[in-house]
Amino acid sequence: MCFVDSHIHLSDSVYDEYLMLIIGIINNLKIRVYSVSEDLGSSVKNLSIKKKHFVNTDSFKAFVGIHPQYASVKLSESFSDFFISNKESIDGIGEIGIDPTYTINNVSNTVEVQKTVFNQMLSIAEKNNKPVSIHSRRSLKEVLDTLTSYRLNRVVFHWYDGNKSLLKKINELGYYVSFGPYLLYSENKRTLLSESDLSLLLLETDGPVSYRHCFNNVITSPVFIISLINYVSIILKKNFNDLSEMIFRNSVEFLNAK
Ligand SMILES: [Zn+2]
Repeated sequence: MCFVDSHIHLSDSVYDEYLMLIIGIINNLKIRVYSVSEDLGSSVKNLSIKKKHFVNTDSFKAFVGIHPQYASVKLSESFSDFFISNKESIDGIGEIGIDPTYTINNVSNTVEVQKTVFNQMLSIAEKNNKPVSIHSRRSLKEVLDTLTSYRLNRVVFHWYDGNKSLLKKINELGYYVSFGPYLLYSENKRTLLSESDLSLLLLETDGPVSYRHCFNNVITSPVFIISLINYVSIILKKNFNDLSEMIFRNSVEFLNAK
């Protein structure tokens, strides 16, 4: 058993100077990380971190993909070539999705372009049987409609921010939902956590996003996941070890093809 941070961006440049420290934390505290990407550059970097520092261990899982913020049809062509030549070492596709926030004052990034890229990412995941990490801010319904046309069951809605009825629908479809450190200060998110299907629950830090409340904006480390599990164990009235074990099992099932 180990702790699992199911969504963190370790290829982000914020981590460059702390990378060896973070690798030490991952190895010594037995934390497994699912490190996601946003574009071709971060996908390449993510894979190279895995190949360089985690050769004989299962602690670093590399997710590659194009985030809606960087959606571009041209980029998605070179992404396909990259995927094909590296597919054996790629553990999942993410962070991908739709987010209208990024289309404001940006003529080249439209919801249509995001949808095209998102569909392409989902096709790659379906064809190669890879799990998917989803960004669905302000687009939950749209993302759900798109997803149901693919044969994908290992899907996680990262940083879940929707309502209770959509949460229920997501869980009924067998998709996972992941919550982060905002649980410590958001009553609304704690309610959602209590309503979610615990067999489809994952936890994440989403570093390098930093947290003003409780964590005082310090650099987000995978070690936060241990505090988060402790806090979730209090909310759900579960024993810390039992909950850690459950989150570990869920994370392994999400990652591995049956
Ligand atoms: Zn993220």
